[in-house]
Amino acid sequence: MPGNNFVILGSGDIGMIMARRLTFEGAHVERVLEIQSYLSGLSRNYVQCLDDWGIPLQLQYTVKKIIGKNRVEAIEAVAVDDKWNFIPGSEEIIPCDTLLLSVGLIPENELSKKAGVLLDPVTGGPYVDEHFQTSVPGIFAAGNVVHVYDLVDYVSMAGSEAGRSAAEFALAEKERSARYIPLVPGKNVRYIVPHKLDKQALEKGDISLQMRVTKPIEEDVWLEVHGEENSIVRRSERYVRPGEMVTIVLKPKMAAEVEKAGRLTVDIYPKSEA
Ligand SMILES: Cc1cc2nc3c(=O)[nH]c(=O)nc-3n(C[C@H](O)[C@H](O)[C@H](O)COP(=O)(O)OP(=O)(O)OC[C@H]3O[C@@H](n4cnc5c(N)ncnc54)[C@H](O)[C@@H]3O)c2cc1C
Repeated sequence: MPGNNFVILGSGDIGMIMARRLTFEGAHVERVLEIQSYLSGLSRNYVQCLDDWGIPLQLQYTVKKIIGKNRVEAIEAVAVDDKWNFIPGSEEIIPCDTLLLSVGLIPENELSKKAGVLLDPVTGGPYVDEHFQTSVPGIFAAGNVVHVYDLVDYVSMAGSEAGRSAAEFALAEKERSARYIPLVPGKNVRYIVPHKLDKQALEKGDISLQMRVTKPIEEDVWLEVHGEENSIVRRSERYVRPGEMVTIVLKPKMAAEVEKAGRLTVDIYPKSEA
């Protein structure tokens, strides 16, 4: 036991539960001080943890001074007005050997910060939508990390909803990625943008593939897009150079062939080598 004679600052659930616990353990709890004009915790806890044990609660009171040399010997309590200003003349010295501070919880947000999710300065937790998705798609948060709950039942409900929504998100993501086919730089191609292609996007209109070659080819060349076993489109140019971007346009009429292709490769090569 850290002491025998306690004053508790803060009437939240933790402060009140501690008042009862300390009493169970044989300590004396002189009183609980609360700066607000109302109880911070649950009424149930007030009844079961303070009232049943004869522990006084003083609303609109706080600690002005802690008195003691090697350890606490007393505190000076003072009444406050609605703006938390001390009310002169209301000071009272309360002898005690321990002051227990129970002045609020804030969500643990170290992981949220690392993940780059936006935090609400009021709750201290991430901003969430109705599915408990944070500002970062695919990251869900529920429970005391979002805001401090009084009852665990609501935490369970939020956790179920967040879990269900995260599973839905993951399944949709799986479906989305199944629709994509990769675009692979082939002969003499350094890179292609986009890197992958939504098969269904071609139904909506042309798609431009933009790329650069690995080296200059100063003669007639073929630019060819092909699947693993089928050719999609082939056109010619009089030359290609790394400094000049090359564009190949995929048309909606090619959608069926693109659909068949497991992946699309772009080759650029001299006609003389064809
Ligand atoms: C003192 C007190 C008494 C309460 N009494 C009641 C009560 O009587 N009835 C009631 O219904 N509710 C009560 N509550 C409220 C209820 O307990 C909480 O609302 C609930 O526990 C919140 O659940 P949670 O899973 O969100 O968070 P927590 O229960 O706080 O669990 C979070 C867990 O995550 C872990 N964690 C944190 N960071 C990391 C990390 N980086 N990596 C891995 N793990 C991590 C923590 O160690 C912790 O185990 C009480 C709360 C308090 C504080």
